[in-house]
Parts: sequence; C-alpha cells; structure tokens
Amino acid sequence: MAKIPCSVNMFYKMTELAEKYGISVYEVHATILRDGLEKLGFTCDHKGRKLRSSKKGTSIYCSRCWRFFDKKYRATPKAGEKWEYYTPRKTFLDLMKEEKELKDKEADPMGGLQLDKRGGE
Ligand SMILES: [Zn+2]
Repeated sequence: MAKIPCSVNMFYKMTELAEKYGISVYEVHATILRDGLEKLGFTCDHKGRKLRSSKKGTSIYCSRCWRFFDKKYRATPKAGEKWEYYTPRKTFLDLMKEEKELKDKEADPMGGLQLDKRGGE
C-alpha cells in the first residue's frame, strides 16, 4: 500500500507531530484546539479545584483546558504560601516556535542587521 504523505490528511499530520514530540495524538489535538480557541477569546486561569493529577499521579493537568503542569517546590516559602507550586508545561507548539527561532537565528546571526558597505574605500 502506498504511503500517504502527512500533508494530505490532518490525522496523519497529528500522528507525525505526536511521534516527533513523544506525546499522544490526543495531546496534539487538545493543544491545537486550545490554541485556536484562545485566539477566539477562550481563557482559563487554572485556579481553584481545576488542577487534577492523572491516575498514576505522574501528570498534573487542568480539567478545564487540559493544559499540563509541572510541580515545583519553593526553597523558602513565605507565610501563607505552600511548598509546592505549578507551572504550565511547554506545549509542542512552544517547542516548535523555539525551534523556528533557533533556525532563523542560525540562518541570520546578525538578526537582519547588515554592514554598511557604502563607506570607506
Ligand atoms: Zn486551565
């Protein structure tokens, strides 16, 4: 059977992205959906009892927007603060953006600046 190029079918493309970044197709799906909805006005503060952990306890996610979080610990918590806090995990879209910026920087290390070749001589 001939292999269908990933650009033809969006589900193949999602599978390709999931394999590349080591995440589930569902996470690719949810990330793209959330990103699109945020552009249309969807917001989530991830506060209250929205943060939950997976059955195995390895992942923490927001039950409203399905964003994953990393658990971190404060070295010296102030009065009223908890030891642990949560920061949003980078999505594959963030990683893709970073990869693109790095690629652009390598292609153009001067950041668009060019030497003025008119003077001298
Ligand atoms: Zn949320």
